[in-house]
Amino acid sequence: MDVKNIDWDKLDFSYKNMPYRYRAYWKDGEWLDGSMVTNNNIVLSESATSIHYGQQCFEGMKAQCSKEGDVLLFRPEENAKRFQNSARRLRMPAVSKEMFLNAVRSTVQANIEYVPPYGHGASMYIRPLLIGIGDNLGVKPAPEYLFTVFVVPVGPYFKEGFKPVKMKIELEYDRAAPQGTGDAKVGGNYSAGILPVEKAREEGYSEVIYLDAREKKYFEETGAANLFFVFKNGDLATPKSNAILPSITRKSIVEIARKDFDLNMEHRQVSIDELENIEEAGACGTAAVITPIGTIGYKGQDYNFYADGKEPGPITTKLYKQLTQTQVRDIEDTHGWTEKIGNRDK
Ligand SMILES: *Cc1c(COP(=O)(O)O)cnc(C)c1O
Repeated sequence: MDVKNIDWDKLDFSYKNMPYRYRAYWKDGEWLDGSMVTNNNIVLSESATSIHYGQQCFEGMKAQCSKEGDVLLFRPEENAKRFQNSARRLRMPAVSKEMFLNAVRSTVQANIEYVPPYGHGASMYIRPLLIGIGDNLGVKPAPEYLFTVFVVPVGPYFKEGFKPVKMKIELEYDRAAPQGTGDAKVGGNYSAGILPVEKAREEGYSEVIYLDAREKKYFEETGAANLFFVFKNGDLATPKSNAILPSITRKSIVEIARKDFDLNMEHRQVSIDELENIEEAGACGTAAVITPIGTIGYKGQDYNFYADGKEPGPITTKLYKQLTQTQVRDIEDTHGWTEKIGNRDK
């Protein structure tokens, strides 16, 4: 992919082979020095735990450009912490915060000309990945590990842009068990979600919303984004559960709602019985950013929110603007969330 041929306005959310990626190996109880490599292929034993037993975890982050061309990360320490939690849950050696941050920064810097310039709605998606490698057969921790970081310039996840989507409450399948791995960003949680989403798309919905697996009574999240709701009385809430992946975007929205806008935003269990009181709903994550949900389908009935589900609501819009403008420093980053790691024009 030649940078000169990229139309920044036409980028999709697909994989592209960039010039450089970071690789580091764990062997005999320690991490060896990492390096930048050009080959995007990974060669591994056919018996690796990552491909048989799903011993792997990952992260998803973004680098974005400010108007001045500064390349900015968003709360990368939070990703570093979560990556450690996910690794420990699957008995993998945690990558130190320092090693994680250096790997992310140097991979973006090595590919800096591919960071989309300001103003095209595009960004550089960053994918840190930790996998069990080496020879193994039984179900036990791998003898060796690979930590890699690759980057891809991407367009928006939802091509329609900031427009409400329809989602369906999933009653046939669960995403995560109450004490399973739902709160870890591990591959095993995702392949099980491909079938439910395909079925929902056939029915005209763009995503599914999972309920708690035990009672089927409380909202959890979508396949790769957390949820938040604005109720008719003006209060906000984001669902709380052990089985939800703790989204950094959600955490940021909670802080924006409380500190920047003085809204009553709670982190609590949200029951399905509250569906009738919802005025606005949104899905949030690094890829989804904030995606307004206009309609939720539940037991064969569609519940429409603000403007019959055709327009994003005012509070969702306000949160979206504050978050995205903070991320590219269009407004002052009063929370101290962005980190400059270079400039794409210098
Ligand atoms: C990554 C992810 C999210 C979003 O988390 P962010 O930190 O906001 O990107 C939400 N749910 C699931 C299941 C995820 O994997």
